[in-house]
Amino acid sequence: MVVGDISTGTELLVIGGGPGGYAAAIRAGQLGLDATLVEADAYGGTCLNEGCIPSKALIHASGLAHAVEHAESMGIHARADVDLRGLVAWKDGIVDRLTGGVERLCEASGVNLIEGRAEFVDGNTARVAHGGEGQGSESVEFERAVVATGSRPVELPGFEVDGERILDSSDALSLEALPESLCVVGGGYIGMELSTAFAKLGADVTVVEALDDVLPGYGDDATAIVRDRAEELGIEFRRGEAAQGWAEAGDDARVTTETGAGETNSYTAERVLVAVGREPAADTCNLEAVGIEPSEDGSIETDDATRTAAEGVHAVGDVTGEPMLAHAAYREGRVAAEVAAGEPARLDHRAIPAAVFTDPEIGTVGLDAEGAEAEGFDPVVGEMPMGSSGRALTLGAETGFVRIVADAETGFVLGARIVGPDASELIAEVGLAIEMGARLGDIAGTVHVHPTLSEAVAEAAANAQGTALHTPNR
Ligand SMILES: Cc1cc2nc3c(=O)[nH]c(=O)nc-3n(C[C@H](O)[C@H](O)[C@H](O)COP(=O)(O)OP(=O)(O)OC[C@H]3O[C@@H](n4cnc5c(N)ncnc54)[C@H](O)[C@@H]3O)c2cc1C
Repeated sequence: MVVGDISTGTELLVIGGGPGGYAAAIRAGQLGLDATLVEADAYGGTCLNEGCIPSKALIHASGLAHAVEHAESMGIHARADVDLRGLVAWKDGIVDRLTGGVERLCEASGVNLIEGRAEFVDGNTARVAHGGEGQGSESVEFERAVVATGSRPVELPGFEVDGERILDSSDALSLEALPESLCVVGGGYIGMELSTAFAKLGADVTVVEALDDVLPGYGDDATAIVRDRAEELGIEFRRGEAAQGWAEAGDDARVTTETGAGETNSYTAERVLVAVGREPAADTCNLEAVGIEPSEDGSIETDDATRTAAEGVHAVGDVTGEPMLAHAAYREGRVAAEVAAGEPARLDHRAIPAAVFTDPEIGTVGLDAEGAEAEGFDPVVGEMPMGSSGRALTLGAETGFVRIVADAETGFVLGARIVGPDASELIAEVGLAIEMGARLGDIAGTVHVHPTLSEAVAEAAANAQGTALHTPNR
């Protein structure tokens, strides 16, 4: 033994304290397992520290500032002076509160917390190196383990992140001064959400996207609405252009791009945000020692009970690949703990929603009409434009729609796409419908409060049945 070494034992070792890991640890504690959670950096993982929560704080605050300055049509004339340092301090306060909450929730469920980096030694032992020199390490013997080591930003060759000129999303969420101009490389959901927020705060934003359009996978009509609005906010799109590199240009960076046809362009901006996706972090805990080999995309393969190829070892969250979303990680963490405790829990990916917190928001769940056809259904589609929703008009947010897809024969709800204010919240009703096997009539027949946006969900369901009151039936 090395000086400072100690040895402990646990029934369930969880590696990584993000949404996947802490959900697994807390649930295991609730089920009476002796659980140990090891976190190398900060409890709450990417989601709480540098992802979902900080980004949504920035998006909300920037939306508020922008709305105040653009409410003349409501008879409101005001100016918003944004102090980015103050905004970031507010955001950091929320993060501290939530990460502290994770620690307390774990402790309340009897979870042992260890700070340090865990690596497997063999199928029943891990070594945890405590941070810092001379801090020692400890050996943990386990019966079962959950790998929840998350993901990290994909690096873009030629754009080494330095936190100054070239930023990743974490840097962008902690800027102390608003850049005059920002070039965002990557038009996925993170790039689009942050572009919108910085444009609303007053930065000149250019989005460079190698594909033909931004937000791939969210549906052309939804994407077009979000892109049009972003252009209204002053965001410039350079679609079909791949970022090649950058060079200093006075106080700015000059980013060079190339189109598919080989044409080169360049754009200057004070800062460059690289948001070209995230990759599983499957190389942080010596998986070889338990016989797990990550697949080609770097993720760990699992079955519907979160089991990996290694007996007794589960994997959850971003490290298992798409969908890399916090709520998917929470669910997988829960299932892993329940299976480890001997319960017959299983994952069901049919009703995992996704949301993009742009302006307007996009919410999706389940199948669209094409997907439903591909799965052998005869789909019926109902739609309600946000422009016909009284509540949307009172919010000054009338762009978008609710579209519901159901099976024509049985009426079972199969999916929805919602574009509009609070689409991220509205999509939950359709998720519940899919989860419980509800039919169109269950949603349309439920009395929704008036005037609310949720009425649009009921109207879209009624539209699919041919009984809508506020929009022409199909
Ligand atoms: C800017 C941004 C915005 C986002 N917005 C959303 C959103 O709105 N909605 C949404 O659903 N998702 C969002 N996400 C994605 C979300 O953050 C992730 O899907 C989620 O955090 C995944 O959880 P996880 O537990 O799998 O991994 P993580 O949250 O990445 O946690 C993994 C943890 O494991 C620790 N770790 C790694 N290796 C070791 C080791 N060997 N020993 C000990 N600890 C280790 C890490 O330090 C980390 O804390 C966003 C991400 C970003 C970057």
